[in-house]
Amino acid sequence: MPQFEDASRASTELFGVVPERSSFSALSFDAWRSFATTRGLNTKAAGAYLPRTLEAAVNAETPFANASALHELYGHGLLVEHTALGAQLQRGEPVPARLFDVYEGVAMLIEGTLAEHLLLGAEFAQKMANVPHESRMLYEQYAGIAERKTLHWTLYAAGFPKVYDAPLAKKLLLKNYPGDASQIEFAVVYGSRKPHADIDYFVVSKGPTTQVVDGVLDIGVMNTMEFEWRLANLDIAVTDPLFTGEFLIGDEARLEELKRRCKNTKVRPKHVAYALEQARDQEEKARDSTNGLNPKTATGYAQTYRASAFLRERGVNVVTRREIDEYLIR
Ligand SMILES: [Zn+2]
Repeated sequence: MPQFEDASRASTELFGVVPERSSFSALSFDAWRSFATTRGLNTKAAGAYLPRTLEAAVNAETPFANASALHELYGHGLLVEHTALGAQLQRGEPVPARLFDVYEGVAMLIEGTLAEHLLLGAEFAQKMANVPHESRMLYEQYAGIAERKTLHWTLYAAGFPKVYDAPLAKKLLLKNYPGDASQIEFAVVYGSRKPHADIDYFVVSKGPTTQVVDGVLDIGVMNTMEFEWRLANLDIAVTDPLFTGEFLIGDEARLEELKRRCKNTKVRPKHVAYALEQARDQEEKARDSTNGLNPKTATGYAQTYRASAFLRERGVNVVTRREIDEYLIR
C-alpha cells in the first residue's frame, strides 16, 4: 500500500484538503470478494468507494493496488467529502449521468497527480494502459483540462473548496487569461475569497476592457485609459478592488502610489455627479431584461454608487464598499 502519511501531506499541499471521514481497507482477495458480494459490487473490480458510508476498499492482491488505493480513498474520498456533488452522493440523491464522468474523471486526475508525487507514476501509467478505453479517454480529457487550465481550476470546477495563496491565484489567472497576458499592467485578487465563491480578479491592461466569468474565475479586465478616467472620478468599482485586493502582477510601487493619490483626492461636486450618473446607469441595466445581466448585481452596484454620492456630498472620501457600509451604519 502507498505511504498514507506521505499521501496525506501531498494531498494537503496539492489540493488543500485531505479525506477526514472516509475509512480505508486493503483486503486480501477473499476478503475483497466477500466485501464486494455483500454490497452488490463487481468482485472483479480492483476497489470501490461507497459514498453513502464513506468506505474505500481495494483488493490488495491486484498488480495496481497502490494506484487503486489513491483512486478510491483520495480520488473519490476527497470529492465525496468536500464537494456539493459529493454531498448529494452521500445522501443517495440521484445525480445527472454527466456528473458521474466528473466523479470518475476527477478521481483519476487526483490519483494520477498523487501517484506522480509518491513516485508511483510508473504503476499508474501501467494501470492506465490496462483500463478500458472509455476510462482512459476520460482520464485524458481531464488531464487535458488540467494542462490547459491548471489542476486547481479543474478541481474547483468540480466543486472543490478554493484554498489559494497569491502565487496560485497568479498561476490560475495567467493560465486562464482572456487575451495577451503580456499587456497586463497590474492585477489583484479581491472579493470575498470564500471557498465556494468565484475567485475575483481586477486587471488593468493595455488591451481592451473585457470580463470573463467561467464558474471558477471572474476576471475583470479594464483598459488603462478607462481605468485612469474611472480612477480620477474615484469610481468605487475601481477603487474597491484596488484597496481591498492582494497584489499579484505588475509594478507594486506604482499601485501604492495610485492608492495614495486616490486617498489624498479632495472630494469635489464632479465626483458626486459622476457617482450619481453611474448609479442611474446601473439602475437602467437592472431594468433592461435583454442584456443578460443579473438585475440584482446591477441594483447592488447602483446602491453602492448612490451611497458613495451621498457620502461625497458630505465631503467624505470613501474608496471601499466596506467603508461605505461602516459610514452608513453609524
Ligand atoms: Zn472510480
